Amino acid sequence: MATMRAAQVSRPSGPLEIVERPIPEPGAGQVRLRVLACGICHSDSLVKEGAWPGIQYPRVPGHEVSGVIDAVGLGVVQWKPGERVGVGWHGGYDGHCEYCRRGEFFACVTGQVTGLTFDGGYAEYVVAPASAVARMPSELPPVDAAPLMCAGVTTFNALRNSGARPGEVVAVLGLGGLGHLGVQYAAKMGFRTVAIARGKDKRPLSQQLGASVYIDSQSQDPAAELVKLGGAKIILATATSGEAMSAVQGGLAVNGTLLIIGAAASMQVSPLFLLSGCRSIKGWYSGTSIDSEDTLSFSARSGVRSMNETFPLERVAEAYERMMSGKARFRVVLTMGR
Ligand SMILES: [Zn+2]
Ligand SMILES: [Zn+2]
Repeated sequence: MATMRAAQVSRPSGPLEIVERPIPEPGAGQVRLRVLACGICHSDSLVKEGAWPGIQYPRVPGHEVSGVIDAVGLGVVQWKPGERVGVGWHGGYDGHCEYCRRGEFFACVTGQVTGLTFDGGYAEYVVAPASAVARMPSELPPVDAAPLMCAGVTTFNALRNSGARPGEVVAVLGLGGLGHLGVQYAAKMGFRTVAIARGKDKRPLSQQLGASVYIDSQSQDPAAELVKLGGAKIILATATSGEAMSAVQGGLAVNGTLLIIGAAASMQVSPLFLLSGCRSIKGWYSGTSIDSEDTLSFSARSGVRSMNETFPLERVAEAYERMMSGKARFRVVLTMGR
């Protein structure tokens, strides 16, 4: 039987171990990808540490997958072998539950999560539901595409659905894996883009990414600085600090929204400030496969790219530690070495 290399976790908090496994066969409604690259996302720690309710082991993490379709299962009509595709966090939907019938595919009650409810992209092959697959433009190298399947689609999809119009002030809080993409997308979408991060040293990077204003939250009051600009229509909160989110909310314009994509544990809000200016605080999920497809094609055309550090699959443990250290600039991507 043909085998592949995969990196699996066998128990909560267990190590990432390289194993040989049979190459999986796609079932009805599924496709198989030959993986070319897979990003390592902070959410992969849910698999590593067993923090996802009901997770089953052994499990292969990885939901920032780019590759080529090499086999399709029964009943799959929309994909064929040879197509370049990606698979992200959203691992498909059934099309018939109440949410799906209302067009809210992301909330599907039987929805899967790639690398969590089925084996993901830390492997040479992945089998995924056909509804989880996004087309990858030919001009986008696999290593560039992979992080866009989670970090990219999350920031792109949040911003394009935010209600902000070209020319309006959009601030991006945090300049890490999500934020460095958020600034680029905001600038390319035509917003007056403000980057907020800690320290003076990030100013040149923020300008290189397209921000027209940089606010150093260590030496400046970010809320006061935003008010000087007329207030932000949107503050995209990518940081995972509830304190940092609380500190910027005062910079929202009338009708402004604090749009949260960073998983902070809690934050303080001022109800009076919200109600007196019709301001809101809202969360945003990532996106479905068609959102990922839009993200990839927008990025290919506009030049938005993640900055990546790449590691071969064999060095997965080191690569994972690098991501967890918070020192990576900015995403970590595994390559399959073929
Ligand atoms: Zn992710
Ligand atoms: Zn459904």
